[in-house]
Amino acid sequence: MKAHLGVAAALLMGSTAVAQTAPAQAKKGKQEQQPKLVVLLVVDQLGADVLSKMEPRLSPKGIKRILGGTRFTDSTYRQLATYTGPGHALLGTGVYPHKSGIVSNKYYDRTTGKSVTTLLDPAHPLIDSPADPEDDSSPEKLLAPTVGDLLKQKSPDSKVVAIALKDRAAVLMAGHTGKAYWLSESTGKMTTSTFFESALPAWVTGFNSKNPMDAQFGKVWDRSQPAAKYFGPDEAAYEGDYKGLGKTFPHKITGKLDKPGPDFYTAFAATPYATDWELTFVKAAVEAEGLGADAAPDILAVSFTAPDYAGHAYGPDSHEVQDSILGVDRAIGDLVTYLEKKVGAKNLVFAFSADHGAAPAPEKLAAEGKTVRRIKKAELKAAVQKALQDKYGPGEWVSALEDPSIYLNTKLAEEKKIAPAELEKTALEAALKVPQIAAGFTRTELIAGTNPERPYFKETRLTFHPDRAGEVLLVPAENSFWGKYGEKSEGSTHGSPYGYDKHVPLAFYGAGIKKQVVKTPVDQADIAPTLAAFLGIEIPNADGQVRPEVKK
Ligand SMILES: [Zn+2]
Repeated sequence: MKAHLGVAAALLMGSTAVAQTAPAQAKKGKQEQQPKLVVLLVVDQLGADVLSKMEPRLSPKGIKRILGGTRFTDSTYRQLATYTGPGHALLGTGVYPHKSGIVSNKYYDRTTGKSVTTLLDPAHPLIDSPADPEDDSSPEKLLAPTVGDLLKQKSPDSKVVAIALKDRAAVLMAGHTGKAYWLSESTGKMTTSTFFESALPAWVTGFNSKNPMDAQFGKVWDRSQPAAKYFGPDEAAYEGDYKGLGKTFPHKITGKLDKPGPDFYTAFAATPYATDWELTFVKAAVEAEGLGADAAPDILAVSFTAPDYAGHAYGPDSHEVQDSILGVDRAIGDLVTYLEKKVGAKNLVFAFSADHGAAPAPEKLAAEGKTVRRIKKAELKAAVQKALQDKYGPGEWVSALEDPSIYLNTKLAEEKKIAPAELEKTALEAALKVPQIAAGFTRTELIAGTNPERPYFKETRLTFHPDRAGEVLLVPAENSFWGKYGEKSEGSTHGSPYGYDKHVPLAFYGAGIKKQVVKTPVDQADIAPTLAAFLGIEIPNADGQVRPEVKK
């Protein structure tokens, strides 16, 4: 009986939509009905390899439901730095870092002489949360409009809401005119910054008081399926002890504190409970913002953050990541069912993807006899410093190292009248001698487009923005890496142009979308233009294209 009522309600809502949008459609002579709500679902860190291993254990109602639309089995990112910032920027805008300016999660700011988190904006602090130098609080550094920005330009009554536990994921999907909400790991509450709003809306404050993360202090995270179903070992030497969660199930979530505090919030954010909590917030946003409720089409973008935190700590083959994906699977199933009831299946278009995959922990592969390693910044810095010093004399030649860039002291080079191309070449040659650095390119080569057919040149070119990239950009050998996780001795990361990082799941599902499996290679840059097309928008200067096979 309930199901019938649901169908009736959906039909009723659908017919209302037709009535409301009919005049506008007649004016434009358009035959198709636009969706009332476009939903972008992103998993923060989910390689296509991990998904295919997990697939037999997923619910038919969750991720698989979306995969049952148009599924692309070979979709990849084409930039070198496969990180959260560049990935979400591409999903939001349809352009790679060379145009979005989001070259990596961090870059060296030459004007201040400091390495900064890419979306740092002290002029727009978080609301009700102490300032942190790692806050990614506004899209001011995003140099391209998001699909949401273009939608609001065309249809000012449209709403664009982006939600993640991780700040940069939410900010980059919301863009310049949408609303972004994320978790403050200082307070354990959902927040935004003054870029988006002057104060937290009442519904956000209401969510925070009704769903205190503090109430979940001391909860135990255990596997949601029988242990025998999980592949690989639960304990491995390369797994970290993330904020006191420990290395094996069951994980008690306290952040090693005796009462709730930032380490507890950070630990909690890595668990499936955080995904449930995020889902509750998403539903509250749909209700409060009235997403999909009127004729002006809206966008809801959700990035599920927990798998990335679990992945970095335990590696992509861990039981923790597997359980984390199962958590996202449940959340997506719940959300799709909820939205189909609320907005009507015929008014919804979904896209599902990830911002990057991840590499297996180097120690795991080393134990299997592969030559892989964590490349230390100090080693790279020393090699480059020595080469430049030997050739050009004493001085602090290396200003900063922010994967994938080495930033050189260009001021000193200028004083010594060293040609930039020569300085860069000397530095690059030295860096290439460091074991497990596979390739590298200089700023001069990247700007000039010298020999673009060389392996990894195109990927590096797409990651390069002249204002934010360094003088030398490096490509590590497969399965080796440098940067934040190169400095550690456990856990794993992403950021390379290799399959495990760049190859991610992609599917579209919903009204007017074909049910099919497409095996031809496609580009992650195609997602934004394809979603935009459902909204009757064209992205100017996009790096991807509308996938013509998606629409019926
Ligand atoms: Zn990410």
